[in-house]
Amino acid sequence: MNILILGSGGRESAFAWKIAQSPKCENLFIAPGNAGTGQYGTNINLKVTDFAGIKAFALSNAIDMVLVGPEEPLVKGIHDFFLADDELKGIPVIGPQAEAAQLEGSKDFSKEFMQRNNIPTAASKTFTKDTLQEGFDYLATAGLPVVLKADGLAAGKGVLICLTLEEAKLELAEMLTEAKFGDASSKVVIEQFLTGIELSVFVMTDGTNYKILPEAKDYKRIGEGDTGLNTGGMGSVSPVPFADAEFMAKVEQRVIIPTVEGLKKEGIPYKGFIFIGLMNTEGEPWVIEYNCRMGDPETESVMPRIQSDFVDLLEGVAQGNLNEKEIIISDKVAATVVCVAGGYPGEYLKNKAISGIENVRGSHVFHAGTTLSGEEVLATGGRVLAVTTLQDNMFNALQQATADAARIYYDGVYFRKDIGFDLL
Ligand code: AMP
Repeated sequence: MNILILGSGGRESAFAWKIAQSPKCENLFIAPGNAGTGQYGTNINLKVTDFAGIKAFALSNAIDMVLVGPEEPLVKGIHDFFLADDELKGIPVIGPQAEAAQLEGSKDFSKEFMQRNNIPTAASKTFTKDTLQEGFDYLATAGLPVVLKADGLAAGKGVLICLTLEEAKLELAEMLTEAKFGDASSKVVIEQFLTGIELSVFVMTDGTNYKILPEAKDYKRIGEGDTGLNTGGMGSVSPVPFADAEFMAKVEQRVIIPTVEGLKKEGIPYKGFIFIGLMNTEGEPWVIEYNCRMGDPETESVMPRIQSDFVDLLEGVAQGNLNEKEIIISDKVAATVVCVAGGYPGEYLKNKAISGIENVRGSHVFHAGTTLSGEEVLATGGRVLAVTTLQDNMFNALQQATADAARIYYDGVYFRKDIGFDLL
């Protein structure tokens, strides 16, 4: 098969690494890719939202499957674009159509979906500019802290946890009347605060059948001890010790099955990944959010644990016979430590030359924000590299990934030295 991956981050690097190992993959292309993805296939200089460019490329290169990494092209309807085009409609796209991508693209849509399908989630209500006063009244009766969520995509910044009623009212007003998050906050979901410990569960579905991929825990804050500003993700670990068989059985029965069946019952086709952000509250799962794609940096820890042919699984999604496929998961532990640019997640240093990747011993280095300049690899993005290892036990995995991250240098390099150590 000729496979096209859309995206340029660590997640797409991990997909490319895994897909390149499949005997079913003949030619692999990554658009636009990064300085590392050229190891696994051919980088194509196309933006993930350049649908016309993607069409031309897919047709002239006999692409047999498109795997969409990030949410933006899904929410903008890349899958629908392929289905609506006579020349493209025979090419399967892995990733849901725009309607289902609203599970991620609209918090209001996803909360209503969960409520209709009795999926455990925090109590909530949605407000607009016209119902601001009702929003204030609702806040007055909601407990504290309280969570405000911009309805639309806000680059991971649209969720505010407010500790006082005054703060919550101020923020609600700014979101609704001053477009604090642009269009994304023209609707705001006010949600009850959940306590517990978070994890991410990933499902692959063809719309009827599903496979549960390895679960993972990610580390969002910039500082050690989970302090400081939120980032795209500073590291991840899989498996998650507190997601034992009993907990995962509850997740499957109460969340995964009702989600897949709910989509089907409501006539919403879904071929792709469902990322379920969960809170484990004293052993009970509560859904915090859905995403319509895999997580980053979770994918970097999930892919190495999948032992089966990943392209075979993707084919199952495309052809609707995922039930006939087998997924074999390693019981080894994967850990990922992300090296970021100095200053990130604020204004950060760019175009710094990277050295030391060749000194990494027991880990694989997935590129994220990197580019080639002649022979030199430059750090260009906030998240630059993801250092991933697979080891027999948790301690060795955490130690190996952390030690290998320290072998990499560029001006301003920073990584957390405590990824996963809370799980020991
Ligand atoms: P979301 O974009 O919905 O995943 O929210 C971003 C982060 O905010 C989550 O990963 C949680 O850490 C936190 N969060 C969101 N909703 C809640 C909630 N209801 N209770 C506690 N924390 C939450």
